[in-house]
Amino acid sequence: MKRIAVLTSGGDSPAMNAAIRAVVRTGIEKGLKVYGVHRGYNGLISGEIFEMDKHSVSDIIQRGGTILRTARSEEFKTPEGRQKALNVIKVLKIDGIIVIGGDGSFHGADLLSDLGVPTIGIPGTIDNDLAYTDYTVGFDTALNTAIDAINKIRDTSSSHERVSVIEVMGRNCGDLAIYSGIAGGAEYVVVPEKPFTVEDICENIFNGKRSGKLHNIIILAEGVGGAQKLARKIEEITSIETRATVLGYIQRGGSPSASDRILASRMGNKAVEVLLEGKSARVIGIKNNKIIDMDIKEALAIPKVFDEELFDLSISLSN
Ligand code: ADP
Repeated sequence: MKRIAVLTSGGDSPAMNAAIRAVVRTGIEKGLKVYGVHRGYNGLISGEIFEMDKHSVSDIIQRGGTILRTARSEEFKTPEGRQKALNVIKVLKIDGIIVIGGDGSFHGADLLSDLGVPTIGIPGTIDNDLAYTDYTVGFDTALNTAIDAINKIRDTSSSHERVSVIEVMGRNCGDLAIYSGIAGGAEYVVVPEKPFTVEDICENIFNGKRSGKLHNIIILAEGVGGAQKLARKIEEITSIETRATVLGYIQRGGSPSASDRILASRMGNKAVEVLLEGKSARVIGIKNNKIIDMDIKEALAIPKVFDEELFDLSISLSN
């Protein structure tokens, strides 16, 4: 193993830069040449690959986004596209690749491993939707961004004695919503994993009113969606002014939290070590605060288990 490459793929997340930095600095320290691939798998196909030195990753640990940029590559999903990428990898004599991205990017990494290229995945997504790891890189920052927004909306919600429906990201995974609900002191959390009725929410709102609550914060997961519609229904039933806010892409950006920077640094470091151990088709994760590596196929096959305990906590603390 002499030359390795790193790329970011799919949806970006805060602290991807911290992971890139850790890969580059660990790789160089171990005597490797490290290359950065621009625009995800597209860059692998078109050969947008550049050597990175220690200073190329200076001053990025605090920056959101990804200096390597990211993309969704339809071409890489085809055998022909992957063959083109393989040709580039061979010509540039790259011995191993580290892919930072979500589950889609991991499927791509798995196929690359099948072609004989040692490939390791680092989970970079704000969704925390990968079951094999307790946390993904970017989740904590997105959570903190959501909390910051919820705090602000709560102020104005209290002043006007309104109900606020706040939609957070997370695709089909309710983690960001539940964590936001607990940390943001929400009155109700609506997640895709748990059936709900508007009547339940309204009952909760009436109970809150009776106990003197000035505001009512309802956190809605992206996977359920329809914040405006839900707000309208709540207003119809309760006659209390109800506003919807979709937080959207602000959750994907911003300077990463300390936890995310540390997680990304640990995972980036581990990914290089795993490559040097001669492993392939592995993904890096964190379990019980230990950095682990696991077979990609095995990791992707683990179903995400809904955390009933956390959900119940979010409900019980809101009463
Ligand atoms: P994320 O990695 O954030 O889940 P996507 O699902 O969009 O994002 O995947 C990112 C990229 O990974 C895709 O644009 C594609 O290039 C590659 N990819 C995703 N799924 C596959 C697949 N089944 N086969 C090959 N490549 C894939």
